[in-house]
Amino acid sequence: MSLSTAVEKVDAVTAWGVALDRIRGRIHRQTYDTWFRPLRCTGNGDGTVHLAVPSKFHHDWISDNYLGFITEQLTDICGRDVEVMLEVAPDLAPVVEEPAAPPVATSPTVTTGDSKNAPICRLNDRYTFETFVSGPSNQFAHAACQAVADQPARTYNPLFIYGGTGLGKTHLLHAIGLQMLERDRSTRIIYVSTESFMNDMIDSVRHEKMEAFRARYRSQCDVLLVDDIQFLGGKDRTQEEFFHTFNHLYESERQIVITCDKLPSEIPGIEERLRTRFQCGLLVDIKAPEMETRVAILRNKAETEKITLPDDVALFLATNITNNVRELEGSLIRLQAFASMYHTPITLELAREQLKSLVSTPDRALSPDHIQKLVANYFSIKVSDLRSQRRHRAVSLPRQIAMFLCRKHCHLSFPEIGERFGGKDHSTVISAVRKIESNINSDGEIKKAVEALENSLVD
Ligand code: ADP
Ligand code: MG
Repeated sequence: MSLSTAVEKVDAVTAWGVALDRIRGRIHRQTYDTWFRPLRCTGNGDGTVHLAVPSKFHHDWISDNYLGFITEQLTDICGRDVEVMLEVAPDLAPVVEEPAAPPVATSPTVTTGDSKNAPICRLNDRYTFETFVSGPSNQFAHAACQAVADQPARTYNPLFIYGGTGLGKTHLLHAIGLQMLERDRSTRIIYVSTESFMNDMIDSVRHEKMEAFRARYRSQCDVLLVDDIQFLGGKDRTQEEFFHTFNHLYESERQIVITCDKLPSEIPGIEERLRTRFQCGLLVDIKAPEMETRVAILRNKAETEKITLPDDVALFLATNITNNVRELEGSLIRLQAFASMYHTPITLELAREQLKSLVSTPDRALSPDHIQKLVANYFSIKVSDLRSQRRHRAVSLPRQIAMFLCRKHCHLSFPEIGERFGGKDHSTVISAVRKIESNINSDGEIKKAVEALENSLVD
């Protein structure tokens, strides 16, 4: 393979990774797992991206149902016309890593005993405690995971981590496993998604191998890491099996760590006895990261991926993408993919252009609501604080800045602005706007905030 083909291939693979992330967000999880996860990008050339599919049937199904959609996504991501070519590759390697984890061939493989049927799950060696950026939103979860990794089954058992998607639950679960392995390579760790656990069980029932299944998850397991337990809801048979697995491990003082997108009390269709088991250890939540943490995550990611990321672009991304770290990282990777395809540096202009679809919807553009949202996000306070009567500086400075930006960019009158901020008097608005105007050049904090926020306003 020539060097330029190799570079092209990397770009196509990157673009395909971004496309997969988007597709995953738009279709049903099961459809994604069945039809999209097995696809592999094998390269590109002459504007054609080659995707390997495992069978003729798979080929026809994708071709009939999703080819247009895939082509559209890739065209959008690459910023040029792209043709997609599907090729049947029957020996396509089975997918063994969990959906959220990018394939890492060198990661340690954590096998589950000797059964050939075992779902061999890899720990992604990029998901370590070192690469996890902690801040107020996740530091309790982070600390609990470290405690558990240092002293399995001594501190919190089970540890139950809950929070929205893309906030780092899977990352922490891998980090626990990796840290335990680092201390003792012989620790028998099972990392399994709830779906894999279920599939493994169904397979074992079908092939009359339940004994081996039970041995695998009970007697041959020192630490059980279970991802996305919410999928257990409504699966009675799997719940039954999981209940006994849990009890066995718990009683023999083996560590169990579980992640979920909600609290145990909120998982629908789950038996009471399991719910109480989940609640008997420590429950920790992960929230969306604050502004500073988002910027730190981007910087970290840029550093590991060797991406040159200017400060204004980092602030722009962190201001606009607030609720999901996966999307935050995705935006950076997408920028990088574009910049490397076109041999241009990453600039604020490029970021705005590329992320238009993500950050600008008509009702958000330059409305006072949008400005309030951006300002609140930037300062990690609530929009309702901006509209409140509170006078504490942590709230009053952001409010003054938001009023200043509304005056400058929305062309509203002072009384109109006062109205949007919980019915403030126009004289309050006037003095806020004046204060920011006169301090903007002398006060570094104000200057930095206004610049970052103005860069984020999409017009
Ligand atoms: P979840 O399992 O909660 O849906 P993931 O653990 O899959 O989320 O995280 C999504 C992506 O964001 C991963 O690539 C992960 O490495 C990254 N990520 C999430 N939180 C952090 C963080 N605090 N520091 C660094 N990377 C993070
Ligand atoms: Mg996850």
